[in-house]
Amino acid sequence: MEKVSKKIQMVDLKSQYENIKTEVDAAIQNVINNTAFINGPDVKLFQTELEQYLNVKHVIPVANGTDALQIAMMALDLKPGDEVITADFTYVATAEVIALLGLKPVLVDVNPNTFDIDIAAIEKAITPKTKAIVPVHLFGQCANMEAIMALAKKHNLFVIEDTAQATGAEFTFSDGKKQKAGTIGTIGCTSFFPSKNLGCFGDGGAIFTNDEVLAKKIKMIANHGQSVQYVHDSIGVNSRLDTIQAAILRIKLGHLDDYAKARNKAADYYDKAFAGNEKIKTPARAKFSNHVFHQYTLQLKGVDRTALREFLTGKDIPAMIYYPIPLHLQKAYVDPRYKQGDFPVTEALCASVISLPMHTELDEETLKYITDNFLEFVNK
Ligand SMILES: *Cc1c(COP(=O)(O)O)cnc(C)c1O
Repeated sequence: MEKVSKKIQMVDLKSQYENIKTEVDAAIQNVINNTAFINGPDVKLFQTELEQYLNVKHVIPVANGTDALQIAMMALDLKPGDEVITADFTYVATAEVIALLGLKPVLVDVNPNTFDIDIAAIEKAITPKTKAIVPVHLFGQCANMEAIMALAKKHNLFVIEDTAQATGAEFTFSDGKKQKAGTIGTIGCTSFFPSKNLGCFGDGGAIFTNDEVLAKKIKMIANHGQSVQYVHDSIGVNSRLDTIQAAILRIKLGHLDDYAKARNKAADYYDKAFAGNEKIKTPARAKFSNHVFHQYTLQLKGVDRTALREFLTGKDIPAMIYYPIPLHLQKAYVDPRYKQGDFPVTEALCASVISLPMHTELDEETLKYITDNFLEFVNK
């Protein structure tokens, strides 16, 4: 097969930039001209525009997604020993901040089709010490927020949504009402890491809430626990979104829905190409969420994944394993409560998933080249 002319990337940020270069360059230059590097006008404007887009009362921009999660947990006054339930199948940041604050991460398994946190497993894990649930909207699709909010209400728990991979995704309640990911729980946290659906040109993140009192507290914690200048009411951190990043994000926010469409188009192409192949399970769509395809993740059955990746690398096709090791088997999170075999779905997923290139600039020629080669190896 002829190789495609452009180098294939997991995420093609360069081509995306080239399409919005004039706008982005002008916005960056404007920040430099005004030397408004910290808390410049673009930060406030981005905050307001994102509040409107998400239909949420408060957006608090911060330095990155991990900080967002940490500040959210600090704002809820969680105390050492409090239990926080989250998914075993996620990026490490989710569990990391729980552990860093001296809280007790309680891991639960996920659903084998949609990769989202298992509701029955959450319910089973709730104890009198449980204070919060942290659902992760993994790979661009919402967790079952309606069921999670019902559980939270019943047991009086906070819900912190980790929507780092799903900015712009939308949850549909059983009465038909729709709400954006991150605006349903007590607090939502996202990341603007460059490869995320809404990504800047460095690090960035934000916290969402509809609660006025919490919003104030979050702002204070993110700014050294300061209420008025040089008056510190609580121990805080220094976590700000750079003005340059905010200026870039304002432009990219305007394209976010089109970017989601482009990702869905690529996902549809992949779905069609792999349909009916019994060695490949394509990602299932949850009935309560749309999908913004942060990742397009397949599950392989009876395929040597390592050999497949080597084959793809030889064809200049990148592919990634998100995630290769469940949290409960990571050295940093080893815990006598958990052992191999405790989370069978996550363990099976870690052994069988593979993510294909997914971004906003994939054309049919590239998608055909990827799927033709992928199928050539799988069907061999
Ligand atoms: C990226 C990511 C984070 C962390 O975001 P950073 O901005 O890199 O700190 C947290 N949770 C999930 C699920 C992520 O994918």
